[in-house]
Amino acid sequence: MKNKRLVFMITDHKGSFYFNVSMLVRQISLYILLAIFALIVFIVVSIGVVRTEIEDINNKKNILNQEFRKTMKINTTLTNEITQRMEEINIAGDRVDDLEDIIGVSKSEDVIIESSLLSRIDIANITGAQRAFIMKFIPNGFPLDKYLRISAGFGTRMHPILHILHKHTGVDFSTSLNTPVYATADGVVEFAGMGWNGGYGNLVKIMHSFGFKTYYAHLNSIVARNGQFVKKGQIIAYSGNTGVSTGPHLHYEVRFLNNPINALNFAKWNMKNFDFIFDNERIVAWQSLLALINNLMLPSKVVQQQ
Ligand SMILES: [Zn+2]
Repeated sequence: MKNKRLVFMITDHKGSFYFNVSMLVRQISLYILLAIFALIVFIVVSIGVVRTEIEDINNKKNILNQEFRKTMKINTTLTNEITQRMEEINIAGDRVDDLEDIIGVSKSEDVIIESSLLSRIDIANITGAQRAFIMKFIPNGFPLDKYLRISAGFGTRMHPILHILHKHTGVDFSTSLNTPVYATADGVVEFAGMGWNGGYGNLVKIMHSFGFKTYYAHLNSIVARNGQFVKKGQIIAYSGNTGVSTGPHLHYEVRFLNNPINALNFAKWNMKNFDFIFDNERIVAWQSLLALINNLMLPSKVVQQQ
């Protein structure tokens, strides 16, 4: 039994060829073993490579997690700062409201619009001298010789930094740093101060006649001094990027009885389009103001006769 072997013998005209089956089986078994061994080696190596890659990915994930946490921390800090600033702004606003209540200044909603009187303004009868007087004492014209564009108008808008709806109290003229800023009418400097100033940055406020005020904000440097009397067209400051500002610009504000009104109407107003303001700014009771100015400028002999 132990020498029992299966042998094929193939015979042709050249001779015989012996074919041992058990040798063939042994050879095939050897090949299979080698293949299995190679496969195991391949799997082991692959597992190693995949493991290294998983470790790399995990490391990267950890680094990203850390960075994410850092960014979240910065975000929280900034959000807190914004909340704090908003509170400061609200407190400042409340104080102004309280002051207005104390001194009895009406808010813009309460300002009487004498629309029925507007039609009675007889502009043709306003003398040249009266026009010159008005253009000297009531803010008119642009506070800058040149500006790039109006980057924000007057009224409700989305705040560029705080991303909330708020009332923009002036007009923003985007301009290069250190552009000369001019007083838009004769008046007295009520405030000229460097600093935060509730977000205005370096700020000049001028008090004019007949209840008007102008604000010039985000300045780089200030020339005018507190209490100084300034003439229309006089350089009071140089434009800048201070306070809550996303780029160099001049925030120009016109106030009537302390309420901001559309400064652009006043900027566009000049001697050549004298009627412009009466048609576009309806909060001011122009008719009574013109009557007052008319009375102020009566010839002196008429006054003496009375
Ligand atoms: Zn502004």
